[in-house]
Amino acid sequence: MFNVNDDNAQNELLNEALEPLPDLCHKCGKCCRSATTFHSYKILQEKVAAGDQEAIDFLSIFKPFESIEDARLVEPEQVEQVLSVVAQRDDMNVEDVTFYYCEYVSPEGLCTIYERRPRCCQSAPANGWSAMPPGCGFEGWQFEQREKQKRMIRDLKTSAYMMEQLSPDGIHHPARPETTLAELQALVLDKIKPWKPFGAHYW
Ligand code: SF4
Ligand code: SF4
Repeated sequence: MFNVNDDNAQNELLNEALEPLPDLCHKCGKCCRSATTFHSYKILQEKVAAGDQEAIDFLSIFKPFESIEDARLVEPEQVEQVLSVVAQRDDMNVEDVTFYYCEYVSPEGLCTIYERRPRCCQSAPANGWSAMPPGCGFEGWQFEQREKQKRMIRDLKTSAYMMEQLSPDGIHHPARPETTLAELQALVLDKIKPWKPFGAHYW
């Protein structure tokens, strides 16, 4: 699942967490034959019409499958995985899911325009939460990224709890009187928000 034009804060924070990608791709070409995006095809088209460069790049290489069944014939495991991820999210609908195939992937799974592939390809998988095809070489890296983000959220929650316990009056930050616990709490909730669809409230 490509991270194209996810307009909410999630995109910003996920990109913020992005580190240079290690070279873990073993060039199976599965992600090139079964891409999806957070947005529906209709919205992507509207974005293209509005001049959105990311959407333009994406649709310059990816063509939509006529149906989910057509995509299933090509990459059945990935189709099932994406549909199960979408079904668990309350900000996405299964009926809005479109699968895409790239015209530039060779039968062997290699990119035939590697040197000029668009940014969405260069940065995939953008983060630990992109639903890459089963067996993708980035599985371990994605696991590590997810664990890092979970740790960060847990540390934030722990700090907020400690501040609350150490506050001299139950209202202000123990070391920074100009900051209230309510402001701190709002900050923590804001940081957690992007990972809510992935279960951050339970971490
Ligand atoms: S699915 Fe993973 S290993 Fe296969 S081509 Fe895509 S990034 Fe590389
Ligand atoms: S441009 Fe290359 S890397 Fe990007 S989806 Fe197509 S074949 Fe894959």
